[in-house]
Amino acid sequence: MAHLAHDPAIRADRRTTLELGAVLPQTAEVRHGHLYVGGVDMVELAREQGTALYVMDVAQIRQQLRAYREALGAANQVVYAGKAFLNKAMVKLLIAEGSWLDVSSGGELAIALAAGFDPGHIVMHGNNKTEAELTEAIQAGVGLIVADCFEELDRISRITTERGSTQSILLRVKPGVVADTHAFIRTGAEDSKFGFGLSGGEGGSGGAARMAVENALALPGIHLAGLHAHIGSQIFALASFAETIAVLADFMGALRTSSGFTPEILDLGGGLGIAYQAADEPATIRDLGSLLTTHLASCCGELGLPLPRLMVEPGRSVVATAGLTLYTVGVIKKLKGLRCYVAIDGGMTDNIRTALYDARYEATLANRAAAPRDTVVTLAGKHCESGDVVALDASLQSPEIGDIVAVFGTGAYNASMSSNYNAQVRPGVVFVEDGEARLVQRRETYADLTARDVE
Ligand SMILES: *Cc1c(COP(=O)(O)O)cnc(C)c1O
Repeated sequence: MAHLAHDPAIRADRRTTLELGAVLPQTAEVRHGHLYVGGVDMVELAREQGTALYVMDVAQIRQQLRAYREALGAANQVVYAGKAFLNKAMVKLLIAEGSWLDVSSGGELAIALAAGFDPGHIVMHGNNKTEAELTEAIQAGVGLIVADCFEELDRISRITTERGSTQSILLRVKPGVVADTHAFIRTGAEDSKFGFGLSGGEGGSGGAARMAVENALALPGIHLAGLHAHIGSQIFALASFAETIAVLADFMGALRTSSGFTPEILDLGGGLGIAYQAADEPATIRDLGSLLTTHLASCCGELGLPLPRLMVEPGRSVVATAGLTLYTVGVIKKLKGLRCYVAIDGGMTDNIRTALYDARYEATLANRAAAPRDTVVTLAGKHCESGDVVALDASLQSPEIGDIVAVFGTGAYNASMSSNYNAQVRPGVVFVEDGEARLVQRRETYADLTARDVE
C-alpha cells in the first residue's frame, strides 16, 4: 500500500519486521502494530478463521516460480515438487505459472488430475511405486515416470505392452554425492534406498545404472528419455550440485561409448535450501540456475555431448518462505532458571519438522509485531509428547495469553506432513494476495475424524 509508506510510524514498523530478512514472505509488513501478509491483517484473519491456521503468500510463490523460470531459461523446465505442499489451489497456481509438477504417489497424482493439471507435464516419482500407481500414471498419460529399480522397469514395460502404449521414463541414479544436509533428507549417497548406483557393486563397471540403461533400451513399451538425480534437501552448498553434474556428465560420456545412448533430458531434482533463521544465507535461485546451466554446458562441451534439456524439481524453495502458521497462546509456564514454555493450539501435528529434523524457526507476535522480540521462549504444542515443540529457544515479544503467534517458513513440509495425532483436526489453508484472503482448504471437523470408521 504505497500511501501508507509516507506515514513515519509505519516506516519504523516495517524496519522492525525486516530484522527477519529472508525468513519473511515478500509481502510481510507491519501496519499499526499488526503483521500483514499479502495485504491482509493476520490478527483479523486468525479471528475470522480460528487457529491453528496455515497462510500462504501467493505473490511469493509466483515470484519463486518465475525466478526459477528465468534462471533456467526457456529451453529448460521447472518441475515443482508437490510433496512440499499440494492441494487443488496450489495445482491451479502451478498451471497459471506454467510449472510442471513432480508427484511421488498415486495420491498426489490424483490431486493433480482432480485440479485439471495436464498429465503430460507430470513427472512421477517413488522408490516403490505400486503396480496400481504405475497403472494409474500410465493410464493418465503422465509425461515422465522416474524409474527407481529393475523391478519397476519390468513392471512399466509389462503394463505398457499390455496396453499397446509407450511410456517415457528417466532413470534415477545415485551420483555418490553426499550433500551437506540432515541425514534423513540426504538421498544421493551410494548407501541410499533411492535409484541405481553408479559405481561397482551390482552390474559391474558403471554399476547398476549402466545395466538399467541397457535394460530400459531393450524393453518394449519404454522410451528412455534421460537421467535423474536428487541429492537431498535444504542444501546450502552449491558445490554439491556442480559435483553431481560432473559425475552425471562422465556417466553420459561412458554411456555414449557403451550403448550409443545420449539423454534428451537431465533432471537434477530439487534441494535448494532456504532461510529458516535470520542468520541463514542460502544461495539464490539465480545462482543455482546459473551454476547448473553453465556447468552442464561446460561439462557436455568438454565431452562433446549434446546439451540435454535441464529439469529441476524445487519444492521447499518455492513454497517454504511463502508460508506461515498462526497460533493462539493458551498457556505460559515460566520454569525458573530453565525455560519459558509458551503452549500454542497446534504443534507436532501441523509441524513435525522440529521433532523430526531439529528444525529451527523464527516467530513473532502478529498482534504486537512492532514491539522488540526481546524474550526467549520455547513454543510447545498441545500434544502428549515432550518432543512436541515447534520452535526451541525462539526470540519473541514478551507473550501473553491470547496473543497470536506467527511462525515463519512453514510453507513446505508442514501441511503435507500433518497428522491427526491426538485426533487433532488439521488446520485450514488460506491463500493471501493483494489484500484478499481466500480459504483454499477448510479446517478439518470432528466429523472428518470418524468419516472413515466402519461400524
Ligand atoms: C523431495 C524431492 C524434491 C524436492 O526437494 P526440495 O528440497 O523440497 O526442493 C525433488 N525431487 C525429488 C525426487 C524429491 O524426492
